[in-house]
Amino acid sequence: MAQSQRYRSWGRAIHSMQQPLWLHSRHDSLPTDWADGSTTALPYGNGRSYGDSCLNPNGYALPTRQLNHFIDFNPQTGLLSCEAGVLLDAILQLTLPQGWFLSVTPGTRFVTVGGAIANDVHGKNHHKVGSFGHHVTELELLRSDNSRSLCTPTHQAALFRATLGGLGLTGLITRATLQLRPVHNPWLAAETVRFSDLGHFFELAAESDRDYEYTVAWIDCASQGKRLGRGLFMRGNHAPAQSAAPPCYRSRSATFPLTPPLSLVNQLSLTLFNQLYYHKQWSERVAMVQHYEPFFYPLDGILEWNRLYGPKGFYQYQCVIPMQGSYEAVRELLQTISASGMGSFLAVLKVCGEIAPAGLLSFPLAGATLALDFPNRGAALERLFERLDTIVSHYGGRLYPAKDGRMPAALFQQGYPEWQLFSQWLDPHFSSAFWRRVTER
Ligand SMILES: Cc1cc2nc3c(=O)[nH]c(=O)nc-3n(C[C@H](O)[C@H](O)[C@H](O)COP(=O)(O)OP(=O)(O)OC[C@H]3O[C@@H](n4cnc5c(N)ncnc54)[C@H](O)[C@@H]3O)c2cc1C
Repeated sequence: MAQSQRYRSWGRAIHSMQQPLWLHSRHDSLPTDWADGSTTALPYGNGRSYGDSCLNPNGYALPTRQLNHFIDFNPQTGLLSCEAGVLLDAILQLTLPQGWFLSVTPGTRFVTVGGAIANDVHGKNHHKVGSFGHHVTELELLRSDNSRSLCTPTHQAALFRATLGGLGLTGLITRATLQLRPVHNPWLAAETVRFSDLGHFFELAAESDRDYEYTVAWIDCASQGKRLGRGLFMRGNHAPAQSAAPPCYRSRSATFPLTPPLSLVNQLSLTLFNQLYYHKQWSERVAMVQHYEPFFYPLDGILEWNRLYGPKGFYQYQCVIPMQGSYEAVRELLQTISASGMGSFLAVLKVCGEIAPAGLLSFPLAGATLALDFPNRGAALERLFERLDTIVSHYGGRLYPAKDGRMPAALFQQGYPEWQLFSQWLDPHFSSAFWRRVTER
C-alpha cells in the first residue's frame, strides 16, 4: 500500500493527507474491498479546484493523471474519446491542427477531462452553448463495487445527469466522449471595451451576447461611488478562414519562482494594479486578432501564480445570481467588497445564458456570475464572506463548489435544491471534505 501524501487544491489554504490508490489502466478494478466500511475515496484530477471539493482528508485519493490516453478521434465529426486524466491542453494540441476546438473551456487548460465533467465547468460562451456537460456524449463510470456503467444523455440518463457536475461523488469516470466544435485556425477576432460603471456592463453584455460567442468582463473591485463596477469588457469570435494575416505568436510561460512569506496582494498593490489595469488602453475600444492562449488562458502564462498569495493561500468567492435582481445584487456585493479593502487583481463578471443545466448540481444558471480571489486573512475574511453570503442568499443565488472551501451547509442546500435527489446517486464509498461539510445537519 502507498504511503499517505499531502494533496493540495489550487487555493493552497486547505490541504489534506490521503492515501493514493493508483489505477494503472482504465480497465483496472478499484484496488480495495472497502472491508472496514469507514474509509472513503475521491477521484483527484489536476487539483485545479480552489477549495476542499477535490479533497478527502484521511481517505483514499484516486489520482487520474496517469489515465491520459486518447482512444479515438474522428476529424470528420469532431467526436473525441479519451481517458479521464487527459488534460484539455493535450486535446487542443491534438485536435486544433485538424480544425477542432473544445466546445467549452474554463479559464485554464490544465484541467483533466474527468475534473471538467465532475464540476461541469463553464466558459466565456455559456450564453451560447451551455457548459462542458452539454457536449459530453458518453462516459464510463466505475463504482466502488467495481461495476461499470456506460452513460449517455439517453442511456442511464439519470446517472449521467448526476455525474455531470457530480463532484466526483458518483464514482470514477474512466473515459468520456466529447463533441468538439469546428474552427478555421487558432485565432480570435477579439475586442476590449472599457466601461465606466455596472449599468454600462449590463448594457454591453446584452448587446454583445447576441453577436459574440465569447464574453466576459474584468471589474475594478477597488472602485467606489459613480465608478463602482467599472472595468474592461472582453468579447470575441473564432476568426474566419479568410481573416487578415494574423500576428506571429510564440507560446511562452514563466513559473512564479517562490512562495513569498506574506501575500503580495494587499490594499496598496490592489488599488495600484486596478488603476493601471483599467487604464491599460488609451481608447475606449481596442480590436485585435488574438491567439487562443492569451484570449482564453491569460493566467496560464504564469505557472504556479497561486503562490503569490503566500503560505496561507487564498480563497475564491464565485456566486451566480438569477437575472432578476442581478444588477442590485452585484452592486451590493461590489460595494461590500470595496468597502472592506479586500479583494483581488482578478475580479470577473459574466452573464450566463438560459440553457437548462446539464447536471443536477451544475453551477451556472441564467443570471450574472461574479468571481474574486481573496488572500486568506482568517476570521476577518470569514466575516466578509458572511456578509456576501447574506446578499447571495437574499437574491436567490448560489456559490460554485469548485471554487469553495467554506460555504455553510444552509447556503448550499438553499442554492442547490436538487441536492437530496442527487444524494440517491452517491457512491456509498465515495466522499469529500466539501460534501461532508455542506450536508451536515
Ligand atoms: C486559473 C483557473 C481558472 C479557472 N476557470 C474556470 C472557469 O472559467 N470556469 C469553471 O467552471 N471553472 C474554472 N476553474 C475551475 C476548474 O476548471 C475546475 O475546478 C476543474 O474541475 C478542475 O479540474 P481538475 O482536473 O484539476 O480536477 P480536480 O480539481 O482535481 O477535481 C475536481 C473534481 O472533479 C472530480 N474528479 C476529477 N477527476 C475525476 C474522474 N475521473 N471521475 C470523477 N470525478 C473526477 C474530483 O473528485 C473533484 O470533485 C478554474 C480554475 C483555475 C485554477
